[in-house]
Amino acid sequence: MSSSKKDIFMVIGGSGFLGRHIVQQLLDRGDIVSVFDIVQRYSDVPFYSGDISEEEQVAAALRKCGATCIIHTASPPAGLSDPALYWKVNVDGTKAVIAAAQSVGVRKLVFTSSAGVVFNGTDNIDIDERLPFPDKPMDAYNESKAKAEEAVLAANGVNGLLTVALRPAGIFGPGDRQVMAGLYQVYERGQTHFQIGDNNNLFDWTYVGNVAYAHLLAADKLQEPVVATDCSKLSPQEEAIIS
Ligand code: NAD
Repeated sequence: MSSSKKDIFMVIGGSGFLGRHIVQQLLDRGDIVSVFDIVQRYSDVPFYSGDISEEEQVAAALRKCGATCIIHTASPPAGLSDPALYWKVNVDGTKAVIAAAQSVGVRKLVFTSSAGVVFNGTDNIDIDERLPFPDKPMDAYNESKAKAEEAVLAANGVNGLLTVALRPAGIFGPGDRQVMAGLYQVYERGQTHFQIGDNNNLFDWTYVGNVAYAHLLAADKLQEPVVATDCSKLSPQEEAIIS
């Protein structure tokens, strides 16, 4: 597909905190968008109820809405004590999304990974995506996100699917039900006088609107690499893409 042709979007996990912001930004710029989720929170957007670990449910929804681009944000929340659920949804579910996308002929898949995939409990300062996954993952959530990310990136270019993974760290903003709720509970219980460490810890936080926007940009930029043997024949735009 040429980059000038508009995509038809399906946001998987679109009923969640981040997913809702992605859906709203797509609507605001006039895109066609549907939502696939186990939880229905929409009255004004085409909604497909289903579980990503069921490949046929995903494929049926993709066929029906004619999606050309999937933005996959679905995951159980971090911090649960159920490794099997993380594996089922994040690993098997993401593989099912990939298989469904390839069988239906979807061209693009943008996956929400997590900065936690390279966290092993020690400081990560001035790192980038070249840092390998730790030998011992932090926990089942982060391990499953890493395995999902690996599957998504391995699928790039296979059966016509182009893929990209983004790794947000902490996300804050309107609609958050995890971070602020947890902090507020600590305050309500009078537990604010505990301090772990020397109070010099750093953590990355990104406003949810910016994380959502990054997903739209990633989707827009995801396109076939320019393959050329004679670089003198490239247009200035093509040169910009490969440089
Ligand atoms: P959220 O819990 O608000 O949203 C996740 C959505 O996925 C929910 O609507 C849920 O119903 C849906 N979902 C869960 N299991 C599903 C399944 N089997 N099939 C279909 N839908 C399913 O979470 P969020 O905070 O919006 O996080 C979105 C993504 O961003 C997740 O992939 C998460 O790992 C990642 N992430 C979040 C943060 C953060 O601080 N919130 C940080 C880094 C990465």
